Amino acid sequence: MSATFPAGVTVVDHPLVQVKLTQLRDERTGSGEFRLRLNELSTLMVFEATRSLATRLERIRTPLAGCEGRALARPVIVAPILRAGLGLIEGMLDLLPDVSVAHIGMFRNEETRRPETYYFKAPAHLPEADVLLVDPMLATGFSATGAVAQLKEAGAVSVRFVCLVTCPEGIAQLRGAHPDVEIFTAAIDPGLDDRAYIVPGVGDAGDRYFGTVG
Ligand code: URA
Repeated sequence: MSATFPAGVTVVDHPLVQVKLTQLRDERTGSGEFRLRLNELSTLMVFEATRSLATRLERIRTPLAGCEGRALARPVIVAPILRAGLGLIEGMLDLLPDVSVAHIGMFRNEETRRPETYYFKAPAHLPEADVLLVDPMLATGFSATGAVAQLKEAGAVSVRFVCLVTCPEGIAQLRGAHPDVEIFTAAIDPGLDDRAYIVPGVGDAGDRYFGTVG
């Protein structure tokens, strides 16, 4: 179940997604459960984010007869924005075990609030692939915008962005810079606080996932 609002943004409002997102948000949820919920949510989100992938005819044989089935028409690459994006990989690879993983290392300069890239590594077949760029939080949108620009510079032509929580500022930034990039999220929160965290959000997703809070 999902709703498209605003243009280019799909909010996955499946009950299981919403229940698990609530557990993820809860401040009483410790790192162990946070990891578990993030894994589960990423599997559920990738199911929706891959709904429009093209397939091609695949002729196989069952033990009884020939059969016409489907295969994905293009390879898929999952590209986490480090660090928090790594938390979405395991659950996605459960559904897409044969895909390649690109890595985009970005950190937020807390003074400028702009992203800085320290690592970029993508497979050579990037131009032929459907890329799922992933980060649990689409906050200001600057990291996502920079990451898409890097992927395109390296040859990517099909990029979808998968997150769990976003806000109007992040959507406007990413869709304004890259209107071809569809966004898949579990929630659109009202906005950002003065440290550019999404409110109510989940807090610092990377710190909660990796247990580096405090
Ligand atoms: N990164 C996070 O982990 N949380 C936010 O709210 C914003 C950016």
